[in-house]
Amino acid sequence: MIDPPKLPEANVNLVTPKAPVTGRVVSNDKCMKGKSSSFVRHTVIDIAGTPLEGACLAGQSFGVLAPGVDENGKPHKVRLYSIANGSRGENGEANLISTTPKRLIDEYSPQRPDDDASKHDLILGVCSNFLCDLQPGDELQVTGPAGKRFLLPVNPDEHDFVFLATGTGVAPFRGFCLDLLVNRETPCSSQIHFIMGSPYTTDLLYDDLFTDLTAKHAHFHYHTAISREPRGDNPRGIYTHNLIEEQLDLFGPLLESSRTLIYMCGLRGMQSGVHQVLQRRGLNANFQTVSEELQDVDPSEWTTAQMKRYVRPTSHMMVEVY
Ligand code: FAD
Repeated sequence: MIDPPKLPEANVNLVTPKAPVTGRVVSNDKCMKGKSSSFVRHTVIDIAGTPLEGACLAGQSFGVLAPGVDENGKPHKVRLYSIANGSRGENGEANLISTTPKRLIDEYSPQRPDDDASKHDLILGVCSNFLCDLQPGDELQVTGPAGKRFLLPVNPDEHDFVFLATGTGVAPFRGFCLDLLVNRETPCSSQIHFIMGSPYTTDLLYDDLFTDLTAKHAHFHYHTAISREPRGDNPRGIYTHNLIEEQLDLFGPLLESSRTLIYMCGLRGMQSGVHQVLQRRGLNANFQTVSEELQDVDPSEWTTAQMKRYVRPTSHMMVEVY
């Protein structure tokens, strides 16, 4: 059994959905690398004078209450958005928090046998589109902070880090990397490997920042796993967990070390692939426990339901998937 990392005490629920506070948008800019079929923004919000000011750590999230009511006439429920700034606030300003909203755009598809099979209306997610539409100066209702576990350890220099993100799961890693490498007098000297997964290169988020950090810090490594672009002779792309398996010479020793912490944030599907790779490559000891029901089953055969039931992350693996 390895010692759990010491995590900081985090504030939670200082502002609840019953009594939200008002934030004001400072900026709301696109943050994709190029032209893309998805629309993601970097939204900076001023929360000066509210209990949230200076109270949110990188890795936590905050709530947004979109105006209006749902189909039952009830006020929209709170949606959570990961904090994308370092723990001292956006640009070191405690009154500013930021996040990375992606417009949820979908087409209606029937879920149940008695749903109308011919219906295919456009669905625009309520809160993500509200957030992405906002202009500087606009006000919004916010709550939070939320989350006590997806946090950097108190002593980051005692650890090495493997960060895994897909899509807007990048948000906490922007904050973590700023805290580890930029917002300290002496940058953290630990090994930091950040694997960012996205369908196309143009969908990469905050790519300039991570490229710049790579140029400035020899121990920071930015890897991209692009899933829908051919690579060399291979017509298929790769997912984040494939990259670990492909570069076992690099990741094997790192994942065998009891210093290393894994943080994973983004699409729920990413988690399964990572659990399977760790088990298949014998790198699971520090990061997950597997119940005996799955001990003799080839990890490639594990179903999502089985993993949910029988695979448990240890204290060295932090997971935030949605
Ligand atoms: P909703 O309106 O809630 O729609 C959600 C789903 O319902 C969609 O799949 C949609 O297709 C379906 N739906 C909606 N209306 C209908 C309808 N009429 N008929 C059938 N189906 C329908 N998101 C980010 O973008 N960035 C982040 O940094 C981020 N961080 C998060 C952190 C945490 C801890 C968590 C839990 C979630 C995070 N999310 C983040 C997700 C975010 O909370 C929202 O879930 C997301 O933005 C979608 O919310 P929405 O209101 O736009 O969509």
